[in-house]
Amino acid sequence: MNNASMNQASINQASTNKPMIELKNVTKAYPAKAEQDNGGLIRALDGIALAIARGEWVAMMGPSGSGKSTLINLIGCLDRPTSGEIWLDGENVAGISTNDLNRVRAEKIGFVFQQFHMIPYLTAVENVMLAQYFHSMTDEKEALEALDRVGLKDRAYHLPSQLSGGEQQRVCIARALINDPKIVLADEPTGNLDAANEEIVLRLLRELHRQGRTIVMVTHDPVVARLADRRIELHHGKIANQEVFFMQDEEQFDEILEELFVLQEHGEIAESDHMEVHGALPVSIALEKLQGMDLVTTRPHPPESHNHKTFVNPCHDALKPAGVSIGDGALIVELTPRGLKRAEDIIRRHRLAERLFTDSLAMDSETEIEQQACKFEHILSSEATDKICTFLNHPKTCPHGSPIPPGPCCGRATGTARSPVAISRQR
Ligand code: ADP
Ligand code: MG
Repeated sequence: MNNASMNQASINQASTNKPMIELKNVTKAYPAKAEQDNGGLIRALDGIALAIARGEWVAMMGPSGSGKSTLINLIGCLDRPTSGEIWLDGENVAGISTNDLNRVRAEKIGFVFQQFHMIPYLTAVENVMLAQYFHSMTDEKEALEALDRVGLKDRAYHLPSQLSGGEQQRVCIARALINDPKIVLADEPTGNLDAANEEIVLRLLRELHRQGRTIVMVTHDPVVARLADRRIELHHGKIANQEVFFMQDEEQFDEILEELFVLQEHGEIAESDHMEVHGALPVSIALEKLQGMDLVTTRPHPPESHNHKTFVNPCHDALKPAGVSIGDGALIVELTPRGLKRAEDIIRRHRLAERLFTDSLAMDSETEIEQQACKFEHILSSEATDKICTFLNHPKTCPHGSPIPPGPCCGRATGTARSPVAISRQR
């Protein structure tokens, strides 16, 4: 009863815009190995500061021994930090008693481990019921429903040895969900699975994400990590990179910056709902990330409606259809000075590549030129770009007549291509 009233108090305290998980200066030190016996300490985690929003899906990456499992275990209330604070849903769990740790874990946390940790002589449904027992009361009907949700109703009375790895992992997910946890912690959940089962488990994780649960997932696999909203890398117990982007994400960011540049170049206003950029991330999420990197800003669409005129994006041979837009909640997206600089670099690489393929290499398939230029725009180093520019004698326009932003090699005298801002101001 005491615990229950405490829980309610802590839930009421938790304001919804506070992070679901927040670590403040968290250190976890273990005594160094006995044979070294020099009284030294291994800092498995070293001054970690990290906030994870409600409903966010974070992937933890980093080499073996970097502290990922230690971090998961601390967030999961399986262990306590040496120093620092760990706030879960508005409650600091760093210094609480073992009983309270167990209570918070039972209430808020669901675990999915790489090693399935199933009791070998209990059936699937009994393994789930064991979790119910630790949480509150066993209920076979509810346990069967949990197995049904992961597609395993017909395996309920099998022993772990009679289940495939993927099926065992799904039992573990059913077990993790028995307390309807707000936080799901997964330590290499697909580490031991074949491709087909990996897909099933990832689909389940995505479902949990859609339900609004907060997910922290350790993985070595960049493809799996890309499903998360954010990737964090640990190195020697420290956060090495708040955000690790992959090549595909970077390319999508480039595509968006390029589209913003071309829209500005044509005097058009860029709106989040009208952008057609293909990539792994939904455009709205990619825009949020670009905002976080100080490459774009957004503001609400003004209430007045206005027209968009039709134009062809010569770089991507794509028609932007005309249309009317009204202030219906869309966001207007603009490049920041940094974003404009990066967009100019991309456009410059693309248009120089087109020149190179057309003029110097005499390629004549428009499609082929486009496809290759789209690849070059992401990969050319600034050195190679300047070499190509110099080789082509600093051309001012692409073969379609669009201006090529000048680079450092062009010099003041030759750098006459105008920025899209200057062009749109003239209109
Ligand atoms: P990861 O999951 O990234 O591979 P871990 O969190 O398991 O890394 O380990 C981080 C570091 O802490 C390693 O150097 C490991 O040897 C050490 N470590 C982890 N758990 C213990 C423990 N219980 N006792 C002593 N050292 C530990
Ligand atoms: Mg580990």
